[in-house]
Amino acid sequence: MIVTFLGTGTSQGVPVIACNCEVCTSADPRDKRLRTSVMIEDNEKVIVIDSGPDFRSQMLREKVQRLDAIVFTHEHKDHIAGLDDIRAFNHKQQGPIDVYATVQVQAALKREFHYIFAEFRYPGIPQLTLHTIAVDHFFIGDLKFIPVEVMHYKLPVLGFRINDFTYITDAKTVAQKEVEKIKGSRILVINALQKQDHISHFTFDEAIAFARSIGAEKTYLTHVSHNLGKHADISAILPLGIELAYDGLKLITD
Ligand SMILES: [Zn+2]
Ligand SMILES: [Zn+2]
Repeated sequence: MIVTFLGTGTSQGVPVIACNCEVCTSADPRDKRLRTSVMIEDNEKVIVIDSGPDFRSQMLREKVQRLDAIVFTHEHKDHIAGLDDIRAFNHKQQGPIDVYATVQVQAALKREFHYIFAEFRYPGIPQLTLHTIAVDHFFIGDLKFIPVEVMHYKLPVLGFRINDFTYITDAKTVAQKEVEKIKGSRILVINALQKQDHISHFTFDEAIAFARSIGAEKTYLTHVSHNLGKHADISAILPLGIELAYDGLKLITD
């Protein structure tokens, strides 16, 4: 399985519009962060977790030729806003895209993209097939997805464990019974917003403490704000086994 970080930035992305801080003006390409999303490819399926506002540019950058499914973590705009752009894949593949989402996320999709679900549908609008997920595992092709529920302040967000890879974004707290589902993962991705405290996101220190409690061989930090600092500066202070992800980074898992 190949995991590609399509985006590793928090909701505003990095650089932030009109910000002249040292991160937003950095020449390092690793300081350019589109909104958070990953692509998972195995022999038969191409799956994207979340389709944020940068979905189109992410598909173009990675030259993605087909898309089988989108799995949503939660309904915030920075994770769903790009859904309309599945139209290109609908057209090329001559069929709908499978979308996996909780009942709560589906309700948000129906509000935000009402025209997709209208009774009389305008020609050329996105076509998708909704699949309802909850706490139970589900399969996309041969890949078994185990949902891991984390809390984004008061909003439940789903992370996913796929074999020994676990992907979690937008967590602030994780119940012990969910932590048990993550344990034993070889590769862990978790969110780390900034050093300053935040009501709904792990801080840098909280993410490192969480990574240590899981003890994966490798942990990658994502959903990063410009407040965290430059990629090179933060990478230099991270403990062994924990790395700052960047857009375009690819991981090969087994
Ligand atoms: Zn900035
Ligand atoms: Zn987010």
